[in-house]
Amino acid sequence: MVTTFKDAFGRTIDYLRVSVTDRCNLRCVYCMPPEGVPPLAHDDILRFEELIRVVQAATALGITRLRLTGGEPLVRRGIVELIGLLRQLPALQEITMTTNGILLAPLAEKLKAAGLDRVNVSLDTLDDGRYRAITRGGELASVLAGIRAAQAAGLEPVKVNMVVMRGVNDDETLAMARQSVARGWHVRYIEMMPLGAAQRVCMPDEAQPDQTLDAGLVSNDQVRQEIEAHYGPLEPADVSGVGPAETWRVPGSAGSIGFISAVSHGFCSSCNRLRLTATGRLVPCLFSDRELDLRPALRRGATQEELQALLLEAVALKGSGHRLAEHILDTSHQMSRIGG
Ligand code: SAM
Repeated sequence: MVTTFKDAFGRTIDYLRVSVTDRCNLRCVYCMPPEGVPPLAHDDILRFEELIRVVQAATALGITRLRLTGGEPLVRRGIVELIGLLRQLPALQEITMTTNGILLAPLAEKLKAAGLDRVNVSLDTLDDGRYRAITRGGELASVLAGIRAAQAAGLEPVKVNMVVMRGVNDDETLAMARQSVARGWHVRYIEMMPLGAAQRVCMPDEAQPDQTLDAGLVSNDQVRQEIEAHYGPLEPADVSGVGPAETWRVPGSAGSIGFISAVSHGFCSSCNRLRLTATGRLVPCLFSDRELDLRPALRRGATQEELQALLLEAVALKGSGHRLAEHILDTSHQMSRIGG
């Protein structure tokens, strides 16, 4: 049995991000167009048994960690049941979820009981009005209740992901760091990637088509400088499931602070992941032009060996780096479809 899954550049692929739905209960300005995205037909979305078969094939190749995403994963009907089914796959060492947290409070305990290990909650501001504006209508109080419920249910470490946007929320990076001290949050600052709807946010000047990809970027170096100017030097922190984040803490705090610097530093050389969309397309890289559609194979009853061969084919499509700059004006790469 193959237990390590390597790509052409020697990187071990052990992490699969699965989008379980294209639907979302928010329409964040940098993630979706104002009118939302047309919902897919029910039959276009992978059924649970299809999804499980893909994950099973992936674990046979060496995938040990799974993250459920969306759309918004908590709007997928039966999500608790799905986690219970995934938990039965012995090779899966970790099942996590990225959620906007709106529906998390009433579900946190059930998710934990079904086998979810931990959650990342996306939260870009601590201000009610700003939250409503960024998410086009979301209620901040529901997310804060969701984070508290996740902590109480033991879905720890609860990571809170903040996408930092110039002129939108970059005055709140310190307030967010304070939550790692006050509420034990594991805050992750994410550099906004200029793809899909985000291009309108990070490149506000449409009259200047030749703006560079970092025109609206707030780099994590800047964020860190601001935090250290207030708290003094951060100390290294050891947090489980760190992924591409570098993690630190304000000395003495229960939470941590991490920086995911895909734009300013990049971490392609240690990329360990594959993505599966809700319709069953394998995405080798967020910026990939080539995807591999598993759904036809699944629906004609492909064997586990055939599915494994398709997974290997998708891994072979992974490039050495993300070529982000080439996608700057390409609107086909919507995060809401691929799942971030
Ligand atoms: N609905 C869930 C949520 O809100 O976490 C999961 C899907 S969402 C697409 C996953 C993550 O992608 C969120 O943390 C979101 O902030 C992030 N994201 C979306 N567009 C982004 C962009 N252009 N750059 C960086 N992160 C982005």
